Amino acid sequence: MLTLVLRIVPAMETAKVKRIYNFSSGPAVMPLPVLERAREEMLSIGGTGMSVMEMSHRSKFFGYVIEGTERRLRELLRAPNNYRILFLQGGAALQFSMIPMNFLPPDRSADFVVTGAWGVKAASEAAKIGKANVIYSSEKDGFRTVPEQSELAFSSDAAYVHYTSNETIDGVEFKYELDAGGIPVVCDASSNILSKPFDIEKYAIVYAGAQKNIGPSGVTIVIIREDMLDLVPANQPALLDYRNIANNHSLANTPNTWGIYTIGLVCEWLEAQGGVGSIEKRNLEKAAILYKFIDGSDGYYRGHAANSCRSLMNVTFRLPSEDLEEKFCDEAEAIGLDGLRGHRSVGGIRASIYNAFPREGVEALVEFMNDFASRNG
Ligand code: PMP
Repeated sequence: MLTLVLRIVPAMETAKVKRIYNFSSGPAVMPLPVLERAREEMLSIGGTGMSVMEMSHRSKFFGYVIEGTERRLRELLRAPNNYRILFLQGGAALQFSMIPMNFLPPDRSADFVVTGAWGVKAASEAAKIGKANVIYSSEKDGFRTVPEQSELAFSSDAAYVHYTSNETIDGVEFKYELDAGGIPVVCDASSNILSKPFDIEKYAIVYAGAQKNIGPSGVTIVIIREDMLDLVPANQPALLDYRNIANNHSLANTPNTWGIYTIGLVCEWLEAQGGVGSIEKRNLEKAAILYKFIDGSDGYYRGHAANSCRSLMNVTFRLPSEDLEEKFCDEAEAIGLDGLRGHRSVGGIRASIYNAFPREGVEALVEFMNDFASRNG
């Protein structure tokens, strides 16, 4: 049976390089045309005779690169002109601290809607800076659900409300955009930004580590409404100060030039796919293939998230035992289905199927799951 599966996982050839299906949660699979283009331009970009990695971030050429990346992101995200798009470092996790450092004054509190492991971290980091109120947590149900909007009661003095639109580890995703009735909404969209349309105008800040749907690790995208910048207190450390970074167009110090360039290529690829609306359609189809199979497996595979909030990006599920999960991952890896082990904190299986993950890879996984269940029932 295993040999049959081996045949249906096609070797993706690029020149002489064999590629696998990479289900990693991040850093994650990149679009192949992006890698090929980066390879083409590695030694000399745009006739400059050097790699973008070797170029001053103050050079005219890099100026075109960063402006181009920003323009493409702005269009794809439909971010209006009163929002700034910033390229930061320190990962999405630094935003857990930087947001309260800038926007949580000592006499106020911030509300946290916690639906998974990243939300827990965001709230606990904020609590080191100021008053963080967890107004909702689905921890008691093992982070399987997200609340209805009507279940949420915000604090009247909240400086902002923070939530995680897609919990990468738990595989739960909001299917609506949170409305806090005028309180600034801050969203960690690290693992579902650009996977479906977001109404940016509903947010004061949207942030995301790039390494899932946007590009390589080492860049964090922050989309911030301009009026928020007026709230930044004086004497913030310069590189933890959104206003300073915005005033310097993300060049307050040396940015991740290579990352910003590569994000531009990913945006170009996404445009060629028809943009965010088209990619959402494909993401819905890919996720449906997997969830439908899980649901039809007579309980052999058990999805983690409640049906109403299943993530389109991170499909989390269990097998009948941990031993079988281990065997499943080992065998999958051996036939080129890589990165399926769930996060070390929760175990189980996680198939991350971001924008760049091909539908054929999902079909190959389902074929393997079918075979595995029949051999290990
Ligand atoms: N938030 C979410 C939703 C994430 O998935 C991650 C990383 N997987 C982070 C925050 C932390 O990102 P980073 O490693 O870039 O700091």
